[in-house]
Amino acid sequence: MPRVYNWQIGREMEYRFQTGTQKRQFAAVFNINRCIACQTCTMACKSTWTFSPGQELMWWNNVETKPFGGYPHHWDTKLLALQEAADPGGQVWDARPPTRAAPYGTFAGKTIFETADGIERQATGYIPDEDEWKSPNLFEDTATRFSPSGASLPEHSGWFFYLQRICNHCTYPACVAACPRNAAYKREEDGIVLIDQERCRGYRKCVEACPYKKAMYRPTTRTSEKCIGCYPRVEGTDPLTEGVPMETRCMTACIGKIRLQGLVKVEPDGQWAEDRQNPLYYLVHVEKVALPLYPQFGTQPNVYYIPPRWVPRDYLRQMFGPGVDAAIERYTNPSRELLAVLQLFRATQKIIFSYRVEPGPKTAEFTVDGKKREIYNDTVIGFDSQGKEIVRITVNEPFYERPDRFAMNTI
Ligand code: SF4
Ligand code: SF4
Repeated sequence: MPRVYNWQIGREMEYRFQTGTQKRQFAAVFNINRCIACQTCTMACKSTWTFSPGQELMWWNNVETKPFGGYPHHWDTKLLALQEAADPGGQVWDARPPTRAAPYGTFAGKTIFETADGIERQATGYIPDEDEWKSPNLFEDTATRFSPSGASLPEHSGWFFYLQRICNHCTYPACVAACPRNAAYKREEDGIVLIDQERCRGYRKCVEACPYKKAMYRPTTRTSEKCIGCYPRVEGTDPLTEGVPMETRCMTACIGKIRLQGLVKVEPDGQWAEDRQNPLYYLVHVEKVALPLYPQFGTQPNVYYIPPRWVPRDYLRQMFGPGVDAAIERYTNPSRELLAVLQLFRATQKIIFSYRVEPGPKTAEFTVDGKKREIYNDTVIGFDSQGKEIVRITVNEPFYERPDRFAMNTI
């Protein structure tokens, strides 16, 4: 079996196929701190792709309440338990000084590929019961416990947060490795993972193997389906896009402006190529403020999360790996450049391939947790794949005061 390098776990591992032949990779960053669980993203996806018979319980995009929520129910705790049973006490990180090749240290435990036998099963997993697919946000808004004295900000004992979930279009997809008919595949042009509906025979090996449970079975067609990364929009072939690569439906609909999606350059070994001015590369590899979801599973997912600041760190470290503390520190005390790049979230529907920051005047100075902070009203400019400007936005939100006569209630 080929040996591949997985930078998220800081080491080589075995994977069924040699990857890295694609030119670009679909990727995204979600800022958990800003999500309000309005489910606009969920409905934008549902009303576009999964509104037909047999897809009633199919949510390619869902937003679930953690720690108790999950779609399918308890998907992550179930897999963590299977991994622990296969490698008792061994699922730990060997923390080392960060390097570019291993920015979070090395995972000393076993990935889902390494706990499987590679013959009967390519990856450890399970097929959820039908009941487990029934609620896309089980235990909605349920915190860990109730505070008898009532919650009071900024500190309260109960906590929860929203986790936005789509297919991660993984670099080493478990769904692709598990498919005995090679119906699941990764596209050369953008790394989007698809299931060929003509080849699929509905064996559900992908449903079993996907650690994120983002491959789903459709009983009416007896095939498996999954998020297609809105590929006509990403290609720029959807009539709405006017030939320009555009972000997916769930990204562009986001009310909370928490999502940024793009196409990053890829090296021949499957890793992201250095591309300092790509906003996703900057957030993931330069600032390291956005982290992969359960990197220890080993699929090298390409959706990254800015972790929530108020959640117990042990919980977050299990979910996002050892990079959590540094990421939260950087997000809480952002550099001047990071503050500018964060403005690009949901500023345009077109895919931003590069950005530039133009310095502006200082507009505020204050102290947070004993640290001096300064805010500059810089301007960040986003460019498309051809280098054409597509968005220009300032750090300070423009203020517009309506004239009195327009403020009257005229109904
Ligand atoms: S998240 Fe699951 S369905 Fe999506 S590419 Fe990864 S393994 Fe496949
Ligand atoms: S649309 Fe945005 S803010 Fe609303 S639930 Fe989805 S990710 Fe969260």
